[in-house]
Amino acid sequence: MDENRRDCSIEPQYLTLERLSWPELSRRMEEGTDLVLIPVGSTEQHGPNGSFTVDTGRADGFVTRLAERMYPRALAVPAVPYSLSPHHMNFPGTITLTPETFLIMMGEIVDSLYRHGFRKFFFANGHGGNRPALTLLMGQLREDYPDIKAAWASFTSVASDVVAEGVESDTHGHACEGEMSQAMYLAPWTVKEERVPGDIVMDEGDYALRGTISPALKFDEITANGALGDASRARWDLGQRIIETALDRVQEYLEDF
Ligand SMILES: [Zn+2]
Repeated sequence: MDENRRDCSIEPQYLTLERLSWPELSRRMEEGTDLVLIPVGSTEQHGPNGSFTVDTGRADGFVTRLAERMYPRALAVPAVPYSLSPHHMNFPGTITLTPETFLIMMGEIVDSLYRHGFRKFFFANGHGGNRPALTLLMGQLREDYPDIKAAWASFTSVASDVVAEGVESDTHGHACEGEMSQAMYLAPWTVKEERVPGDIVMDEGDYALRGTISPALKFDEITANGALGDASRARWDLGQRIIETALDRVQEYLEDF
């Protein structure tokens, strides 16, 4: 992740909790740091072309760039590397939590930061499998802490129009042209140099009419190699367009947060 942070014009030690001492954090809070950015990743297979940390690397890279844009108001905390990937468990190496554990962990991260005085939280999600739980988390947080503001977004979805316009493959969705383009831009060490073309199986009613129906499926039932899409078509400039658009839009939302 250091490689990614070399791009930043502000010294990386001022952007993330990972690099701050507690007196430095106290000074930042006195100077107006009031918004916590929480990257949410996963440790799951990304086909033959990506490492297990594609989602974590993307989420961390996104949040570091957002923290730089919104310095000194926003502070990034270390990425959450484990989340909800039960559908990828038939591929070796994937690590998943149960939804209960994930919700408890996320709640306790917020609770710790709340006790230190933070009231505003933004979760940048890099993994589609976390969406239902993050929606539940927002309801739970609002109930437990009436004085906080919290929001989450999958940053790919924030720029879905740029994804739709830029992706050339017929199918995309996981470890694909769109996702691996973002990974090339945000976390290049997660992308294999020699990339093999997509090997898509995708049956089961054309993956349930391309997302409009949600069947209970393991990922190996719809793709032979773990990818849904063609990562060999991924390119850095598409990743840059997707991510910089998402950053513009998320930043605009958070300015009045
Ligand atoms: Zn992913």
